[in-house]
Amino acid sequence: MSHVIRVFGDPVLRQRAAEVDDIDGTLARLADDMLVTMYEAPGLGLAAPQVGVQKRLFVYDLQDDTGAHVIVNPTIVEARGEWLHEEGCLSVPGLAFEIVRPKEVHVTGWDIDGKELSIDGDEMLARLLQHEIDHLDGILLLERLDPDQRKQALRELRNRDPELGGRGPTASANRL
Ligand code: ZN
Repeated sequence: MSHVIRVFGDPVLRQRAAEVDDIDGTLARLADDMLVTMYEAPGLGLAAPQVGVQKRLFVYDLQDDTGAHVIVNPTIVEARGEWLHEEGCLSVPGLAFEIVRPKEVHVTGWDIDGKELSIDGDEMLARLLQHEIDHLDGILLLERLDPDQRKQALRELRNRDPELGGRGPTASANRL
Protein backbone atom coordinates (compact mmCIF):
# COMPACT_ATOMS: atom_id res chain seq x y z
CA MET A 1 0.00 0.00 0.00
CA SER A 2 1.40 3.37 -0.88
CA HIS A 3 1.09 6.50 1.20
CA VAL A 4 0.60 10.14 0.28
CA ILE A 5 3.91 11.99 0.49
CA ARG A 6 3.66 15.06 2.71
CA VAL A 7 5.01 18.23 1.16
CA PHE A 8 6.50 21.53 2.27
CA GLY A 9 4.09 23.38 4.56
CA ASP A 10 2.91 20.23 6.37
CA PRO A 11 3.85 20.62 10.06
CA VAL A 12 4.72 16.92 10.35
CA LEU A 13 7.88 17.68 8.38
CA ARG A 14 9.08 20.15 11.03
CA GLN A 15 8.90 17.90 14.11
CA ARG A 16 11.55 15.64 15.59
CA ALA A 17 10.46 12.02 15.13
CA ALA A 18 10.47 9.65 18.11
CA GLU A 19 12.90 6.77 18.64
CA VAL A 20 11.50 3.37 17.65
CA ASP A 21 11.08 1.17 20.75
CA ASP A 22 10.11 -2.11 19.07
CA ILE A 23 11.14 -3.42 15.69
CA ASP A 24 8.08 -5.58 15.05
CA GLY A 25 5.73 -6.68 12.29
CA THR A 26 3.89 -3.36 12.29
CA LEU A 27 7.13 -1.51 11.67
CA ALA A 28 8.11 -3.99 8.93
CA ARG A 29 4.77 -3.35 7.18
CA LEU A 30 5.31 0.38 7.44
CA ALA A 31 8.79 -0.02 5.91
CA ASP A 32 7.33 -2.10 3.04
CA ASP A 33 4.69 0.56 2.39
CA MET A 34 7.35 3.28 2.47
CA LEU A 35 9.39 1.39 -0.14
CA VAL A 36 6.32 1.07 -2.39
CA THR A 37 5.68 4.81 -1.96
CA MET A 38 9.33 5.64 -2.68
CA TYR A 39 9.47 3.55 -5.86
CA GLU A 40 6.16 5.01 -7.09
CA ALA A 41 7.30 8.60 -6.54
CA PRO A 42 9.97 7.79 -7.80
CA GLY A 43 12.70 8.66 -5.33
CA LEU A 44 15.93 7.24 -3.93
CA GLY A 45 15.04 7.61 -0.26
CA LEU A 46 12.05 8.27 1.98
CA ALA A 47 11.82 9.00 5.71
CA ALA A 48 8.81 8.09 7.88
CA PRO A 49 7.79 11.74 8.58
CA GLN A 50 7.38 12.18 4.81
CA VAL A 51 4.41 9.80 5.03
CA GLY A 52 3.16 11.41 8.25
CA VAL A 53 4.66 8.90 10.69
CA GLN A 54 6.73 10.35 13.54
CA LYS A 55 9.17 7.48 13.91
CA ARG A 56 12.91 7.39 13.38
CA LEU A 57 13.27 5.21 10.32
CA PHE A 58 13.88 5.65 6.63
CA VAL A 59 14.18 3.53 3.50
CA TYR A 60 16.41 3.92 0.48
CA ASP A 61 17.56 2.32 -2.74
CA LEU A 62 20.40 3.97 -4.60
CA GLN A 63 19.70 1.72 -7.61
CA ASP A 64 23.09 0.04 -7.20
CA ASP A 65 23.50 -3.71 -6.67
CA THR A 66 22.72 -3.54 -2.93
CA GLY A 67 18.94 -3.21 -3.34
CA ALA A 68 16.48 -1.77 -0.82
CA HIS A 69 17.48 -0.81 2.72
CA VAL A 70 15.66 0.14 5.92
CA ILE A 71 17.43 1.93 8.78
CA VAL A 72 15.85 2.32 12.21
CA ASN A 73 17.06 4.79 14.87
CA PRO A 74 20.06 5.99 12.84
CA THR A 75 22.88 8.05 14.32
CA ILE A 76 25.68 9.87 12.52
CA VAL A 77 28.77 9.02 14.54
CA GLU A 78 31.32 10.65 12.26
CA ALA A 79 31.30 13.07 9.32
CA ARG A 80 34.25 14.12 7.17
CA GLY A 81 35.10 16.34 4.23
CA GLU A 82 32.88 18.48 2.02
CA TRP A 83 30.96 17.66 -1.13
CA LEU A 84 28.88 19.97 -3.31
CA HIS A 85 26.10 18.11 -5.06
CA GLU A 86 22.64 18.70 -6.48
CA GLU A 87 19.98 17.54 -4.06
CA GLY A 88 16.21 17.28 -4.33
CA CYS A 89 13.47 16.18 -1.95
CA LEU A 90 10.18 14.37 -2.56
CA SER A 91 8.61 16.76 -0.03
CA VAL A 92 9.81 19.83 -1.97
CA PRO A 93 8.76 18.60 -5.41
CA GLY A 94 10.19 20.03 -8.59
CA LEU A 95 13.10 21.91 -7.02
CA ALA A 96 16.75 20.92 -6.63
CA PHE A 97 19.66 22.77 -5.10
CA GLU A 98 23.44 22.68 -5.02
CA ILE A 99 24.19 21.99 -1.37
CA VAL A 100 27.49 21.42 0.47
CA ARG A 101 27.48 18.64 3.04
CA PRO A 102 30.14 16.34 4.51
CA LYS A 103 31.41 13.93 1.84
CA GLU A 104 31.67 10.89 4.10
CA VAL A 105 29.64 9.77 7.09
CA HIS A 106 29.63 6.80 9.39
CA VAL A 107 26.10 5.91 10.50
CA THR A 108 24.93 3.30 12.97
CA GLY A 109 21.42 1.98 13.51
CA TRP A 110 19.33 -1.17 13.17
CA ASP A 111 17.83 -2.97 10.21
CA ILE A 112 14.22 -4.14 10.06
CA ASP A 113 15.21 -7.53 11.57
CA GLY A 114 16.69 -5.78 14.60
CA LYS A 115 20.30 -6.41 13.58
CA GLU A 116 22.83 -3.68 14.27
CA LEU A 117 24.03 -1.75 11.24
CA SER A 118 27.25 0.14 10.70
CA ILE A 119 27.40 1.98 7.40
CA ASP A 120 30.25 3.94 5.82
CA GLY A 121 28.77 6.24 3.21
CA ASP A 122 30.67 8.26 0.64
CA GLU A 123 29.31 10.88 -1.80
CA MET A 124 25.74 9.92 -2.85
CA LEU A 125 25.18 7.42 -0.03
CA ALA A 126 26.55 9.91 2.52
CA ARG A 127 24.31 12.60 1.03
CA LEU A 128 21.23 10.40 1.25
CA LEU A 129 21.93 9.32 4.84
CA GLN A 130 22.32 12.93 5.97
CA HIS A 131 19.22 14.08 4.10
CA GLU A 132 17.02 11.33 5.58
CA ILE A 133 18.36 11.82 9.12
CA ASP A 134 17.59 15.54 8.73
CA HIS A 135 13.98 14.54 8.00
CA LEU A 136 13.90 12.60 11.28
CA ASP A 137 15.05 15.78 13.05
CA GLY A 138 12.38 17.91 11.35
CA ILE A 139 14.88 19.62 9.02
CA LEU A 140 14.15 20.17 5.33
CA LEU A 141 16.85 20.75 2.73
CA LEU A 142 15.64 24.37 2.48
CA GLU A 143 17.34 24.93 5.84
CA ARG A 144 20.66 23.80 4.33
CA LEU A 145 20.57 26.54 1.68
CA ASP A 146 22.46 29.80 1.80
CA PRO A 147 20.24 32.86 2.38
CA ASP A 148 20.01 33.80 -1.33
CA GLN A 149 19.17 30.26 -2.47
CA ARG A 150 16.61 30.03 0.29
CA LYS A 151 14.89 33.29 -0.57
CA GLN A 152 14.59 32.23 -4.21
CA ALA A 153 13.31 28.77 -3.28
CA LEU A 154 10.61 30.14 -0.99
CA ARG A 155 9.54 32.56 -3.71
CA GLU A 156 9.20 29.71 -6.20
CA LEU A 157 7.28 27.58 -3.70
CA ARG A 158 4.88 30.43 -2.96
CA ASN A 159 4.19 31.12 -6.62
CA ARG A 160 3.77 27.57 -7.74
CA ASP A 161 0.64 25.81 -8.81
CA PRO A 162 0.37 22.89 -6.38
CA GLU A 163 -1.15 20.75 -9.16
CA LEU A 164 2.15 20.82 -11.02
CA GLY A 165 3.87 19.25 -8.02
CA GLY A 166 6.89 17.22 -9.05
CA ARG A 167 6.53 17.89 -12.75
CA GLY A 168 8.89 20.83 -12.79
CA PRO A 169 12.00 20.92 -14.95
CA THR A 170 14.22 19.60 -12.17
CA ALA A 171 11.94 16.72 -11.21
CA SER A 172 14.51 14.15 -12.26
CA ALA A 173 17.20 15.37 -9.85
CA ASN A 174 18.22 13.13 -6.97
CA ARG A 175 15.05 13.05 -4.88
CA LEU A 176 15.53 12.03 -1.27
ZN1 ZN B 1 13.62 14.69 1.49
